[in-house]
Amino acid sequence: MERRPQRLRALRAALIESGVDALLVTSLPNIRYLTGFTGSSALLVASVEAHPMLLTDFRYAAQVGDEVGDFARVRIEPASLWDGLRDVLSNISGGPRIAFESAHLSHADFERLAPLAGRWQFRPSTALVEALREKKDPGELVHIREAVRIAEAALERAIRDVRVGLTERQVAGILEHHLRDLGSEAAPFETIVASGERSALPHARATNRVLGAGELLLIDFGATHEGYCSDITRTFALQSVNPEMQGVHDIVREANLTASGAVRAGMRGRDADALARSYIASRGHGEAFGHSLGHGIGLEVHEGPRLARTADAPLPVGAVVTIEPGIYRPGWGGVRIEDDVHLTAGGAEVLTSFPRELMVIG
Ligand code: ZN
Ligand code: ZN
Repeated sequence: MERRPQRLRALRAALIESGVDALLVTSLPNIRYLTGFTGSSALLVASVEAHPMLLTDFRYAAQVGDEVGDFARVRIEPASLWDGLRDVLSNISGGPRIAFESAHLSHADFERLAPLAGRWQFRPSTALVEALREKKDPGELVHIREAVRIAEAALERAIRDVRVGLTERQVAGILEHHLRDLGSEAAPFETIVASGERSALPHARATNRVLGAGELLLIDFGATHEGYCSDITRTFALQSVNPEMQGVHDIVREANLTASGAVRAGMRGRDADALARSYIASRGHGEAFGHSLGHGIGLEVHEGPRLARTADAPLPVGAVVTIEPGIYRPGWGGVRIEDDVHLTAGGAEVLTSFPRELMVIG
């Protein structure tokens, strides 16, 4: 079912509630969500009164019509999109209060609005479209499920080829080859492959470090399907496991299962975070879990809602969030297990199914 009219209606209601007449959308994922346009150069003016107006350049003249259809009027700008904005604003017969996305407008572009400020009042806004994007509709769920399926199939293939003696970058390359081979679009984020003591760095990049026997290997990656992301982490043992590795992995796995099983829509983000954090703390590793429990995924790999100590907002029905507890011990290594979970009205559905036991590979 086509959801774009519904999304635009919901945005109009949000604009009215915020006391503005229109929103200048500069975030490309937000533009894609509202109109279907996937190009890399666009401005969108969504007003309370008029049809949305999308500005893009000649490179996208052919594709924009197919993607956007009747959901927005399209204007192809020969030079700068910002030059066309004045005309577009003049043509929407609404009031003068124009919100802009303060998280997605550079200061340089903000200054381009200054000459227009006599006639229009520009006001900062945050997360007007992002709030709508937190709740996934059935079509979005289909795409996320496919991104999960591709990622898990690629990981299953890749771990057969992982060997002690390869570098982290070679492992990332093997995994990325399988992701592409299975139909993933561009990687949603840079693949993390961290071995040995480097696995203690939660956001390690793959390096030329050589994998060694008896080490941990942490892989955090995702696939993209129709613009929608998956985000998965598994931690493996290379050739052998020692009791310390097994012990830490068991705690993280239990924290992951506890949180995935108990997280619910309606719960505050901080209470969801506490599900895993209190368990890890009870096992004496509270200090070693230094990041938040999870985040929403969708058109972007990090979006709302947040599952964090500082997140007071309730988790909406329909959100897809990650559950990714970890324990990191500098100089030793780290373990993280990350799953993707759909929060339905009836409970949490874990979308990822790759085994969570500590697997020995390599
Ligand atoms: Zn991840
Ligand atoms: Zn994540």
